[in-house]
Amino acid sequence: MRISRYLPMALVLLTCISCKNRQTETLETYVVMVSFDGFRWDYADLYNTPNFEEMASNGVKAERLIPSFPTKTFPNHYSLATGLYPDNHGIINNSFYAPDLDGIYRIGDRDMVSNPDAYFGEPIWVTAEEQGVKSASYYWVGSEAPIKGSYPSYWKKYDGSVPYMDRVDQVIEWLKLPVQKRPGLITLYFDEPDGTGHEYGPVHDTTGEVVEYLDSVLGYLRSEIAALEYGDRVNLIVLSDHGMGPIYPDRYVNLYDVINEEWIEMIVGGNPVYLVDAVDGFEASVTSALNGVVGVSSWQKDDIPEHFHYGNSPRFPDILVVADSTWSIGNRTDASGYAGGAHGYDNAFTDMHTIFFADGPAFKDGYTHPVFPNVDVYGIIAYILELDPAATDGDMERVKGMFSEGD
Ligand code: AMP
Ligand code: ZN
Ligand code: ZN
Repeated sequence: MRISRYLPMALVLLTCISCKNRQTETLETYVVMVSFDGFRWDYADLYNTPNFEEMASNGVKAERLIPSFPTKTFPNHYSLATGLYPDNHGIINNSFYAPDLDGIYRIGDRDMVSNPDAYFGEPIWVTAEEQGVKSASYYWVGSEAPIKGSYPSYWKKYDGSVPYMDRVDQVIEWLKLPVQKRPGLITLYFDEPDGTGHEYGPVHDTTGEVVEYLDSVLGYLRSEIAALEYGDRVNLIVLSDHGMGPIYPDRYVNLYDVINEEWIEMIVGGNPVYLVDAVDGFEASVTSALNGVVGVSSWQKDDIPEHFHYGNSPRFPDILVVADSTWSIGNRTDASGYAGGAHGYDNAFTDMHTIFFADGPAFKDGYTHPVFPNVDVYGIIAYILELDPAATDGDMERVKGMFSEGD
């Protein structure tokens, strides 16, 4: 099926009168969104990736996808899902204090991760489910909580030890379900090449070997989709949450060498991003001390640069502290661990940029799309699945040129 029009809102609303019946006959189109965590924008050029190259020549490749700030895993996966900046979706860092939840949200805290009140906005799978399209998630940030009362129809509790090929097999099983049970939207997540990029850095033989293995996982997924009876109706989107920059032990700042602990109520985060709640009256002491050292930048909430779209969440405390590119910050006295790679930096830093590949009937063939921000991805999926979208920070004007019959 070709996407024949850029759906006007009224038409979408009309379509949705019959939403509840959408899966009784056949599904016209599918979206499978895959994230390879920490896949820098240029890895497919640096390493041998024939399956990524084939996606680019058969479909769409963006020059780069710009992550939201902070360029960390949880904020960005949830921006991809909702089309919102972290300020607006509530997951403002991998770890942060949430006054409304009276606790610290952390990736590893099951109670927090599965608490729907942690998540603002509407993830794309909730939009789909509410409009009669089933969804499935082989992991995605937010998918383990009943956001707005809905889980994906099929979802998994996060377990990083499940072999990658098994995840692909499950996705294919979902796509083989009888049509009434079959998901029209599937998310699939892999935690590499992030882990290896952290350990060895973005430009390293070992990182290259992992990227090349991931390319074979992609090849397997593509061949299994192609073998489905309706494989030609599947739109495969392969992207990532952020890139990876090199770091060096001799570019490390121990924050407590610079700031006085008595100025601080609470500091939460991880290299290279910390959020600080200062003792009243000591906000400027913290920022001016930190801005006085090489390798660190710090702002009070009202002074954060515009392009970060950051600091207005009710969960944001007083002060943002970010290491400059290639630098690290923390509270350790020993700098030797700050080697290899890191992410979380300013999203204007190109090393933080990541990939967007898409292939399927909705997309142009052999087309390179200009750089765009990841808050546009929600709208791309809603458009393909003909869903009435929730309000987002995205802009369809920036991305409509990638569709097979777009301008
Ligand atoms: P980081 O590099 O610290 O920003 O985070 C990457 C890590 O996040 C990965 O290695 C995964 O272990 C973890 N992660 C990613 N998605 C999830 C999830 N849905 N639930 C729990 N942990 C996750
Ligand atoms: Zn990540
Ligand atoms: Zn990481």
